Amino acid sequence: MRSAVKGQPTSNELSEIGYFYTMHELSLAAEVIKLVESEAVKHNARSVDEITIEVGDFSGVQAEAFRSALEILSENSGIRDARINIERKKGKGICPACSQEFEMEQRIDRCPACGEFPSEIISGYEFRVVSLTIEND
Ligand SMILES: [Zn+2]
Repeated sequence: MRSAVKGQPTSNELSEIGYFYTMHELSLAAEVIKLVESEAVKHNARSVDEITIEVGDFSGVQAEAFRSALEILSENSGIRDARINIERKKGKGICPACSQEFEMEQRIDRCPACGEFPSEIISGYEFRVVSLTIEND
């Protein structure tokens, strides 16, 4: 049976450590593998087919460096055959003046219409495992 484990394992811990620039991709990859393996065991998985991870542009994680780290570290793990999907999330803010959502290349970007700094950044800081596809009996 093929089943998708949605929204699992979304670790708050992981999204928090993703904020720090000093955190190395390798150690993040090791964390993700540990997490995925423990979810796989919890769901009696025979194998993990697919892992989808969101990486925000402001998360401090280099998406491609992270992918390589994950590929290297997973070679000797239970997830070596899994397809790894990395979804980049662009930065997005909400303007306090016109209430529009606007895309941000950098965290200091302002609303292109009003020149205001965003009142809230709603996207870009993501770093989490959003789903797993596993094979089980
Ligand atoms: Zn605006």
